[in-house]
Amino acid sequence: MAIDGPRTLAVALGTLALAVLTGALITWQQHRDAAHAEVAMAKLFLDSRLDAVALELQRLAALPALQAPLQDCPSALVQALLRESLASALVRRFDLVHAHSPLRCGPEGEHQAEPPAVLPTRGLALLLGEQSGVKPQWVLALPHGAVLSATLDADALRLSAGELPDRQAGSPTRITARSMGAGSAVMWGPRAATQPAWGLPPLQLLSVRHNVLLTAESDRADVWRAALNNMLLCTAVAWLVLGAIVAQVWRRAVNRARLVKRLARALAKRQFVPFVQPIVDLNSGLCVGGEVLMRWDHPQRGILGPGEFIDEAERTGLILGMSELTMSLAAHRLAPLAQAQPQLYFSINITPGQLREPDFAQRLAKTFTADTLPRQQVLLELTERDFVDPLALGQLIALRADGWRIAIDDFGTGQSSLSTVEKLPIDRIKIDRAFVSTVDEKTVRRPVLDAIIGLARELHIPLIAEGVETRSQWDYLAARGVASAQGFLMARPMAIDDFVRWTAQQAASPNAGAALPGAATQTRLPDTSLAQEGAGASGALHALWQRMGSTGGVEVRDRLHLLRPYTACFVGRQALDWIVRELGVSRDEALRQARALVALGLVRHVLDEHDFEDAELFYRLSPSSHAQVVLAAPEAEELKRALHSAVNIPWRDHCRGLLRHRQCATGSVLVTWIARHFGAPRATAAQWTAQAMRQGALRHVFDDQPFRDDNTLYRLG
Ligand code: C2E
Ligand code: CA
Ligand code: CA
Repeated sequence: MAIDGPRTLAVALGTLALAVLTGALITWQQHRDAAHAEVAMAKLFLDSRLDAVALELQRLAALPALQAPLQDCPSALVQALLRESLASALVRRFDLVHAHSPLRCGPEGEHQAEPPAVLPTRGLALLLGEQSGVKPQWVLALPHGAVLSATLDADALRLSAGELPDRQAGSPTRITARSMGAGSAVMWGPRAATQPAWGLPPLQLLSVRHNVLLTAESDRADVWRAALNNMLLCTAVAWLVLGAIVAQVWRRAVNRARLVKRLARALAKRQFVPFVQPIVDLNSGLCVGGEVLMRWDHPQRGILGPGEFIDEAERTGLILGMSELTMSLAAHRLAPLAQAQPQLYFSINITPGQLREPDFAQRLAKTFTADTLPRQQVLLELTERDFVDPLALGQLIALRADGWRIAIDDFGTGQSSLSTVEKLPIDRIKIDRAFVSTVDEKTVRRPVLDAIIGLARELHIPLIAEGVETRSQWDYLAARGVASAQGFLMARPMAIDDFVRWTAQQAASPNAGAALPGAATQTRLPDTSLAQEGAGASGALHALWQRMGSTGGVEVRDRLHLLRPYTACFVGRQALDWIVRELGVSRDEALRQARALVALGLVRHVLDEHDFEDAELFYRLSPSSHAQVVLAAPEAEELKRALHSAVNIPWRDHCRGLLRHRQCATGSVLVTWIARHFGAPRATAAQWTAQAMRQGALRHVFDDQPFRDDNTLYRLG
């Protein structure tokens, strides 16, 4: 698992930059939102206070003493000014100021002052103190040239924390009110001007009623502090998210690496086996062949589909070995059926990697021979993308010229369909399941499906529809002349011996599969072993296997290797000598036959890891039932019934540590019992027991771990 340094650094720096930018944006947004809210509140506050002062001024202006021009301060006026000054909560004092005259009337009586430089000409004007300590004044021009002025408390327009209740991050540091007449007052924050923050110009709001402009500003240092906090927070969150993603990617990579190791081990142990899904003629319902599909016969998890491993196998190239093994097993195991029924064909999935192998054609020719599955009964399935690569296309043309038949798989899902079909003599087109499923959709038009059917008809290429799951799909395709189909309606992919029985039963009642979805796979058919049918090559191999085990056969005895004993085994090299002598064939031919015996499961390496080699390796003859290959798994119900009704399984109490478990049995006891009951080899019986557990016939005493052939305890489910 390699880590790409520069890319990791770039991602880390990119994340950091993104986090910093996000932090800055959040800060900006917070300041704008808070300034908007607070300047609006400040305006409401200012308006309400000035409204109250204006009202008091107007009440004063209505006094009869003020209705005519004044030369002095009548005592009635002075008293009124004193009374109103004392009564007002906001105004410290009211004064009457004469235009162009030093005479003023105030609550304390007549006094002299500098005539005001500016007198409002009409209406109201606010004279706010520019510097600290100067009290805001609110004046009202009287009709005869004088003005009434209200001097407010120095803090009368200052906001308290109570007036700005929801102060939040980003609230402005300073709010000022500037009179359009003159002067300004600080309503919130320091009296001294703040340093404007970069990128955050002051926010302004005009009180039209009083002609006052309110400005909310944020201090640069304050904004920086908030920005820094936000950036740190965003960075922390980003790193956390990035960490989680990295952990996830890492976990996946580790899982993938583990899977690759397991696949390699499984390949060495030859755990990949071919299953076959029948292909049937849509007119007659008769089986015309099958598609060979790879399965992983996992020792603990049972049979696994390619979805679990094929991508990884293709990525790592392990698919080459796995395909080789599956093809070889399929060729040998299907041989008796293929030779007995030469009208059947079997499609084999080929990967682009295989096509690129320079000796692929020779390997194919070696695997599919007249003795196994003859090449005229083989259909090589390739997806459309394999036809795009010119190298692969050349290889395909050569294969076609050599007599191999070729099908385009998953037609319609890739590119190039038309040009491909024109360039290469294609024997079959397989319609992808996605298009077949449109038959059951609530639509009257299936443009792609109908177009593929039309195209194939034009080109006279028979079609195979994939994924037929319903009777209506069958009818739709049959009515439009699609030749054959495969799908769960007829049968799911199954082990080869099940397939052999399926074809036998299906030949007796061709439409059974279609009429009763899945019925054929669910019914356990009479156990007819391949050996009994054993025509041709397979029959000869069974005869050879019998002779190997009988008197005068290979030397079977207990042997020792690296201090480890191996019972009842023979040596590969000696066995080849024996075959050469016995059959009078070349050593190469003897090796080929021995490998065919391994493929059929009649001979196994003692550790289950090797194909047959001309070397000092130990092999065993499989037991006479050679059930691993041909024995059908009992049906779920049958297995369950057997376990429940068995009287000789020692279900009893077991102690584990301080715990006592009632009525259970160990995995190994169960496997031994099943092996004896069904006459199956231990490995097969272990698989069946695991299967019984998956189907609920058995359960683990504590949890749902997979079944283990050891001291683990199980109960009846
Ligand atoms: P594919 O070649 O398109 O194979 C057909 C897949 O459709 C099979 O999935 C089959 O089980 C599934 N199928 C068939 N009928 C139905 C149906 O009615 N409904 C549904 N839902 N599915 C249906 P499977 O066996 O899981 O194989 C998946 C893919 O793995 C195959 O797709 C093929 O691309 C690949 N594969 C399988 N075996 C081999 C192999 O031996 N070699 C290579 N290279 N690829 C293989
Ligand atoms: Ca296929
Ligand atoms: Ca397909």
